[in-house]
Amino acid sequence: MSVYSHSRLSCYEQCPQKYKLKYLDKVETEVEQSIEAFLGSRVHETLEKLYRDLGYQKLSTLDELLDFFRSEWKKNWDDSIVIVKEEYGPENYLKMGEKFITDYYNKYKPFDQGRTIALEERVLVTLDDAGEHKLQGFIDRVMESEEGYYEVHDYKTNSRLPLPEYLDNDRQLALYAIGIKERYPDVKDVKLVWHFLAFDKEIDSTRTDEELEALKKDVIALIEKIESDEKFAANPSLLCDWCEFKPICRQWSHLYMIKEKPENEYLGDPGVKLINRYAELKQKQKQITLDLYAEIDKLEEALINFAEKEGVDVVFGSKNKVRIKETEQNKFPAKHSNERERLEQLLKDHGKWMMLCSLIRLY
Ligand code: SF4
Repeated sequence: MSVYSHSRLSCYEQCPQKYKLKYLDKVETEVEQSIEAFLGSRVHETLEKLYRDLGYQKLSTLDELLDFFRSEWKKNWDDSIVIVKEEYGPENYLKMGEKFITDYYNKYKPFDQGRTIALEERVLVTLDDAGEHKLQGFIDRVMESEEGYYEVHDYKTNSRLPLPEYLDNDRQLALYAIGIKERYPDVKDVKLVWHFLAFDKEIDSTRTDEELEALKKDVIALIEKIESDEKFAANPSLLCDWCEFKPICRQWSHLYMIKEKPENEYLGDPGVKLINRYAELKQKQKQITLDLYAEIDKLEEALINFAEKEGVDVVFGSKNKVRIKETEQNKFPAKHSNERERLEQLLKDHGKWMMLCSLIRLY
């Protein structure tokens, strides 16, 4: 029986192929750590130290904490850490971490909001009565605010602030809430608390028992889907840039192949040649289509003028005919026509494009 985790499930949702490589085939990679993960680890261990010291009745000063953060950064730094956003350097991320810690410290000092029960605590969640499906996770901090009222705290260092509605459906902390309810018999309620450090924001949420039961069912369904998957199809996305399997992934292996070649050989690569020619022909095809639509528009206009001038409703060719009818109709300019492109641009400029796309999807 496999014990799942939220990150394992998320890995499958992101890309089934990555999941297979990581959890089933257990492919070894020269794991290149991303700067985001590195920053997250250093900030987490600094906040862990803060609360661990408090357990020993030691309130660290902000300077002590920042010194600890910088020294852990230096001690663990490795030049192979990957910075995908090339316009930023390690010093930018170091400063970000300092800012996160400073804001957090100033916001919660003297840290008397409740009693810390556990730090970096492993929880095991049983998803069904038979105990066939289990899930484990690590909670950054568990706090008891009042007798029987527990809080699950999670520190986020992402530079994106999710909408509260998204967090109301977040799976990770809700699963931990189930684990807390299993572990502490005096639980009256569990609050989920996210600290979005980059925004100096705390967002809270709760789940009813019914919601937690529904969540268990959803997670079991996902586990069953994973266990019955036979293909584990690749799902390439922007997140591939952070995937440790990118160099061996078939979605990217040609890129790695040609990157290693000098420029003159690169252009001689048969794959590169095929793609360049393909792109050229597709561009031509688009231009020909545009020209054809433009010519058809002109012909239709000429036909209407001809029918009007001659007083006829149907115009005959050698084998075909066209009936000209006057109707009132609002219609989009034809696809690929210049008018269509102009209309689309106009809608985008006025911020109406997404609304229109949603309406079209609805109907
Ligand atoms: S590189 Fe992208 S497509 Fe390939 S395994 Fe990783 S996430 Fe999946």
